[in-house]
Amino acid sequence: MAAVSVALASTALFGLLMLVLLGSLLRSGVPGVLEWFAANAVLAAALPLLLARGRISDVVSVVVANFLVALAGSMLYAGFARFLGRPVRWPRLLLVTLATVPALAYWRYAVDSIPARVMVSTFFTAAICFATAFLVARNREADRARYPYVVAVMLATIFGLCQLARGLYFSALPGASSPLMFTTNVNVILLCVGAAIMPVMSMCAMLMVHDALLADARKAVNHDFLTGALSRTGFQAMARKCFAEAEQHGAPLSLLIVDLDRFKTINDTFGHAAGDSVLREFAALTRVHLRRDDALARLGGEEFAILLPRTALADARGVAERLRSEASRHAVSTDAGPCRYSISGGLAMRERGETLDRLTTRADRALYAAKLAGRDRVCLHEAPLEQPAAFGSPT
Ligand code: GH3
Ligand code: MG
Ligand code: MG
Repeated sequence: MAAVSVALASTALFGLLMLVLLGSLLRSGVPGVLEWFAANAVLAAALPLLLARGRISDVVSVVVANFLVALAGSMLYAGFARFLGRPVRWPRLLLVTLATVPALAYWRYAVDSIPARVMVSTFFTAAICFATAFLVARNREADRARYPYVVAVMLATIFGLCQLARGLYFSALPGASSPLMFTTNVNVILLCVGAAIMPVMSMCAMLMVHDALLADARKAVNHDFLTGALSRTGFQAMARKCFAEAEQHGAPLSLLIVDLDRFKTINDTFGHAAGDSVLREFAALTRVHLRRDDALARLGGEEFAILLPRTALADARGVAERLRSEASRHAVSTDAGPCRYSISGGLAMRERGETLDRLTTRADRALYAAKLAGRDRVCLHEAPLEQPAAFGSPT
């Protein structure tokens, strides 16, 4: 029995560690963390009861303790479901968990069978492990790192198989119940693996939480919260990639800088919240007209940049003009009534070797020309910076 006690005591120790670590994540508000924390707490309550077998009533050390272990498993599963945005069917989950109680009581008091009791617990835990593996495998979000998910699926599957093996091993033992059944090498190994389930799966859960927090932080840095367009930082990272690709393949690359016309007047007339709606709707409208690889960024205020990879000036001009005419046709509904707006655009195509700064300067100059020419138009900058700017006629 010493090996069993060591396995349970190690689980208790690692469980305590997991409680402390998960406790530090409770404030993050990430769905699932509370359930994982509770699962470890319930298991921490069950382990001393299991260890006190023979010194306290079997109702507590066998029936209640094993039920608590099963409950901890269900909570662990519920944590993964909540984290992955899946509904947790608590009544069904609790009912299945509670079903272990009469089974455990029957094979303790009606028929005293250790193999049968071990089978109840191990098959239940195996089901939880397989369900967790299935859940995690099916619900990874596309923008999340594969690593924590693959590790969680693999470990949950291995744990499920080991639990299944332990149950089958006990089912093959002779019927008479004896504590000596626990002392075989096979059982000790499988028991140690079983004891690792909660701490190891909690660790997987924490890997997933850290990955999610990292993805959220990256998203916050790389995107503008109001419009969902790229932020300046995100835009520069995207532009670096596009510039490298254009340089390598000699492909055309165009930059359109858009500024909403007389936006201050829109704010003054319709209110700041209405101005925000216009910005959001313009970004949404633009996304509809862009291809997958095009990038929309909010450079600040009411100024946006649109990077068009593999697009020469003539085609970029078509995109810009379509956007301009759609924007001027589109009225944004606000509390103060429908708000019409227009945009001005400055367009430039990258010359070989040209940097983002220089291309932006040229597109900016074209935008300035569009504003000077009366707004609600797109101008092109067709010459390198050193030469006098040559503007295409406003479209
Ligand atoms: P122009 O046609 O020359 O571009 O004139 P404009 O009024 O659009 O330009 P100006 O630079 O004078 O004003 C820009 C306004 O945009 C002023 C600022 O209060 C407003 N603005 C900047 N950021 C936001 C925002 O996030 N939401 C709202 N509602 N307004 C913003
Ligand atoms: Mg403006
Ligand atoms: Mg502006």
